[in-house]
Amino acid sequence: MMVRQKTIGTSIECSDVGLHSGHEIGLALKPAEANSGIRIVRTDLMNGAREIVADWRGVSNTRLATTIANDRGATVGTVEHLMAALAGCEIDNVVVEIDGPEIPAMDGSAAPFVSLIEKAGIVEQDAARRTVKILKPVSVGDDTRSVSIVPAERFSIDFEIAFDAAAIDCQRYRFEPAGGDFRSEISRARTFGMEQDVDELLRNGYGRGGSLENTVVVGAGGVLNEGGLRYRDEFVRHKILDCFGDLYLAGAPLLGAVQAYRSGHELNNRLLRTLFADETAWTMVDAAAPGEVAIC
Ligand SMILES: [Zn+2]
Repeated sequence: MMVRQKTIGTSIECSDVGLHSGHEIGLALKPAEANSGIRIVRTDLMNGAREIVADWRGVSNTRLATTIANDRGATVGTVEHLMAALAGCEIDNVVVEIDGPEIPAMDGSAAPFVSLIEKAGIVEQDAARRTVKILKPVSVGDDTRSVSIVPAERFSIDFEIAFDAAAIDCQRYRFEPAGGDFRSEISRARTFGMEQDVDELLRNGYGRGGSLENTVVVGAGGVLNEGGLRYRDEFVRHKILDCFGDLYLAGAPLLGAVQAYRSGHELNNRLLRTLFADETAWTMVDAAAPGEVAIC
């Protein structure tokens, strides 16, 4: 049975500050044709320079968040939480219009974007969904940080983190979209940072839109946010959310098992670059329905 590509049923909007820029930014998601992929349009820029394809080749900055650029130098920052929501909802084709340089922070997780997509409705299209099937192991990084992907019949992310802060410490979680539930297991996990890093971040022009409304802040005595954590291990779940979003810049879902140790945006992107540089490491196949095995 053919697994079909999907888009959203109708246009839908939201607005909020950008986590790093601090600008108030409006975002609209619009339905898009089959095989057109995920395209971001900066409506505040001139025609000709304003379209940015959500693609691993366009990643131009990975410090603290993933920024993508087009060949005219237009950029859009902090794409990973929206990309994770699109991956989790299995949206293949959509136009994302924004009137500023960064995806709105919302609550620092992917849940508000999942709600938007669900409100707009998810529509099947008359084209087969394709996936990037991993044919041999690919890994990047070293003993201190790494991420790898190996052939597997279903996509999964197994992530481990280790932080000095006692509130985080070591956490490990494994997420498998086909057997699990992105919405309940992963989507609500918020971005996080250390209280001791805030001044330096602001000095360097990052985190200007950050607040306890959109970031879990860890201080010497533990989590500063009133209400505490949404999951006991919210930190590692957010790292999975980031990784899931970063890897959806492959342009299609991956069919392989991801193993990550203290990985971040830079390594996640380097994994895609290393994978696609070796044509013997992957092939495109039609997506398989749950329970079926993907075939060429
Ligand atoms: Zn994040």
